[in-house]
Amino acid sequence: ILDAGFFVRWMAAAAGLVDREAERLTELDSAIGDADHGSNMQRGFAAVVRTVAAQPPATPGAVLVAAGRQLISTVGGASGPLYGTLLRRAGKSLGEAPQVTAAQLRAGLAAGVAAVEELGGATTGDKTMLDALVPGIEALETSFDAAATASEEGALATVPLLARKGRASYLGERSIGHQDPGATSSALLFAALAEVAR
Ligand code: ADP
Ligand code: MG
Ligand code: MG
Repeated sequence: ILDAGFFVRWMAAAAGLVDREAERLTELDSAIGDADHGSNMQRGFAAVVRTVAAQPPATPGAVLVAAGRQLISTVGGASGPLYGTLLRRAGKSLGEAPQVTAAQLRAGLAAGVAAVEELGGATTGDKTMLDALVPGIEALETSFDAAATASEEGALATVPLLARKGRASYLGERSIGHQDPGATSSALLFAALAEVAR
């Protein structure tokens, strides 16, 4: 059973991992993008943590909706609206329940991913965050740890892919051979989830 406090801790753990890995995220984005993914994620998750600390939401859904809003308003890049939509839609689908199960979280995130696909027009295999989010959510059926592993494998598996969406797609064939920054940060969200569930 997961309460609002769990979700606040999840966001704080995500911010911590994003801080720790910011340089690597930016390095990956410098190879196939514009070298700002680390700073985009840092700025966004720092704002999320500030917001939920200043006004602690009462429900899991409200934490995710507040987090999603912050990402949309503070991150200029493609990842802000996309991650913002993921969390906001997931939060909305959790409704106003004071506590949710892991299965409800999984269903909420699945609804969030559908919204990301609709907004960005990408699907799995396009070398985007979806390549880590989709297997991560799938493996949530097993455990938080399994989701962390599956999303990380999904991120690693973006290396040989050709980017079909976002800035990396402008590179065409030259996008092959590099790990997608957004898939890498998505794996961090699942790693953070596993960390707080431990
Ligand atoms: P920007 O590309 O605007 O600088 P970021 O560098 O913060 O934004 O984020 C780039 C990441 O966003 C990519 O690595 C990819 O995972 C993700 N992304 C970009 N476009 C899409 C899309 N249409 N659908 C899903 N994810 C996308
Ligand atoms: Mg970028
Ligand atoms: Mg950018």
